[in-house]
Amino acid sequence: MKEKGLLIVLSGPSGVGKGTVRKAVFSRPDAQFEYSISATTRTPREGEIDGVDYFFKSKEEFRQMIRDGKLLEYAEYVGNYYGTPLDYVNDTLNSGKDVFLEIEVQGAKQVREKIPDGLFIFLMPPSLNELQSRIVGRGTESVELIRNRMEAARREIELMSLYDYIVENDDVEKAVDRINAIVQAEHYRTERI
Ligand code: 5GP
Repeated sequence: MKEKGLLIVLSGPSGVGKGTVRKAVFSRPDAQFEYSISATTRTPREGEIDGVDYFFKSKEEFRQMIRDGKLLEYAEYVGNYYGTPLDYVNDTLNSGKDVFLEIEVQGAKQVREKIPDGLFIFLMPPSLNELQSRIVGRGTESVELIRNRMEAARREIELMSLYDYIVENDDVEKAVDRINAIVQAEHYRTERI
């Protein structure tokens, strides 16, 4: 029988650069993971495409997905729902491919409970000051939202002990190298190679 794929969970505080690191992971020509596209109720940012960046849902549609058991995990984050479609993750893992999730920490905690043998990586900002200037620098959020996101980030950093590895995001390409090295080591450790 074909070996099941590895579930890789990249998490960490908002604004740490998870999205940027995830995109850089997938832009490497030798990337061998499948990205799980999340569902969300937040409105698309400029340039975001439904079915590529997220599956954009109404609150009612999202609640129906919860009731139907269609989500591996979900969380309410700064007033919106975010969740991981369950079937895609199961089907892809069962086909022997690795699945990569980029999610916030409440969701990562739920995944840890359901799939304890996943590989959990926490992306760490070099400092909270740096984090704040990154969130502000993104320029897409109001002052109030920035304050909420910083507060969320402080709480998220306290949850670090749940993770197998901590990767500092001082430089995107270095962070990607570290993540790839961790995944490769995990493949050897679990005899997937
Ligand atoms: P953003 O609105 O900036 O795209 O995402 C906000 C936060 O939601 C980020 O920390 C992102 O990683 C997280 N997120 C994205 N998709 C999911 C998901 O499916 N589940 C959970 N729990 N968090 C998610």
